[in-house]
Amino acid sequence: MADIDIQLPTSMPIAGHIDPVVTPRGVTARPDGKVDLLGLPRTEITRLFTEAGLDAKAAKLRGKQVFHWIYHRGISDFDSMTDIAKAMRPWLDARFVVGRPEIVVSQHSEDGTRKWLLRTADGHDYEMVFIPDADRGTLCVTSQEGCTLNCRFCHTGTMRLVRNLTPGEIVGQVMLARDALGEWPKGAMNGLDDEETEGDYSADGRLLTNIVMMGMGEPLYNYENVRDALKLVMDNEGLALSKRRITLSTSGVVPMMEKCGEEIGVNLAVSLHSVVKEVRDEIVPINRKYGIEQLLQACADYPSASNARRITFEYVMLKDKNDSDDDARELVRLIKQYKLPAKVNLIPFNPWPGAIYECSTPERIRRFSEIVFDAGISAPVRTPRGRDIDAACGQLKTAAQKMSRADQDRLAEEKQAALG
Ligand code: SF4
Repeated sequence: MADIDIQLPTSMPIAGHIDPVVTPRGVTARPDGKVDLLGLPRTEITRLFTEAGLDAKAAKLRGKQVFHWIYHRGISDFDSMTDIAKAMRPWLDARFVVGRPEIVVSQHSEDGTRKWLLRTADGHDYEMVFIPDADRGTLCVTSQEGCTLNCRFCHTGTMRLVRNLTPGEIVGQVMLARDALGEWPKGAMNGLDDEETEGDYSADGRLLTNIVMMGMGEPLYNYENVRDALKLVMDNEGLALSKRRITLSTSGVVPMMEKCGEEIGVNLAVSLHSVVKEVRDEIVPINRKYGIEQLLQACADYPSASNARRITFEYVMLKDKNDSDDDARELVRLIKQYKLPAKVNLIPFNPWPGAIYECSTPERIRRFSEIVFDAGISAPVRTPRGRDIDAACGQLKTAAQKMSRADQDRLAEEKQAALG
């Protein structure tokens, strides 16, 4: 078998005391020596085929076919790739696999939300959540195993960063969800005997219609892998989901926002949560590095923002912390000052064991929402989903990872201090 060198992008160093320690990709070679094609673009698959001995023309054709089967049809078994010559299939099978993240636990909430605990080939656990609604189904995708940013309201923030997920581990979540929902197109490929109808390939009637990069981790601290995975999701020959149906949420990694808009062009969401410096410094500590004005200017400059594709500001409602009338008015003032095409998502705080905050009262949340709405800015209150299986916003944290003793002590002390 040819010796195959797999070229994967490296993670990106960003200087600064609250930035992550750059972790190596940490992709462990398979014991059987085969190369996993999941997460690789067409060009890389073609390159690997050439390296394994196919001539350039054959490698290009096989690369195109295999790419289509993997990402557009969800097929992971070479023997089912029916337009590839029968004699060719064992050759592929001897050298390559098409993997999927391993499912460790699958949970169903009483409100229909589903959560999966997944495991990478080298034994790291992470989660994804599917939230069905009447008119859409949204998959909340994880970008990192753990997080470096320690947002105070977020359970994942109490985990240490283990490593960045690879493009395969990120796009693999979308593919697993399609597997679970039975949503791969049923028609045949071009040039084959079966007729392929438009309905087989449109998003109409699908359960999984939208993706949000809002699972565990800060996607802009794993930018290249997230970008490469989303390109596979958006590729018309791949998972074929429009960029308008994908939202990337950042806590405010300002230097990466413009690049993200230019290179991926997905919708932007920002974990804002306060417009008062001292409060945001506490709740979203990256604010100490990239302040509110810098962040809002980066939003104003975000390439694909428009009235049709507004920026979403996520705002978790924390009792007596960020929920006053003055907070709401200041939020409105800043959105207007920066002329932002914006909507505000008000999120009732989801408690988790050891959390130091409480949720604002329903009356307070309603009043806050009214003030923003009255200024002409949409500010719906998000209905908590999947609370019974810890799948709601800010609660994602793998059951497999226990908090260290020191973390538990720190949280207990903070809670004590906050209570008075
Ligand atoms: S909110 Fe996002 S960026 Fe902040 S700690 Fe949680 S996972 Fe990390």
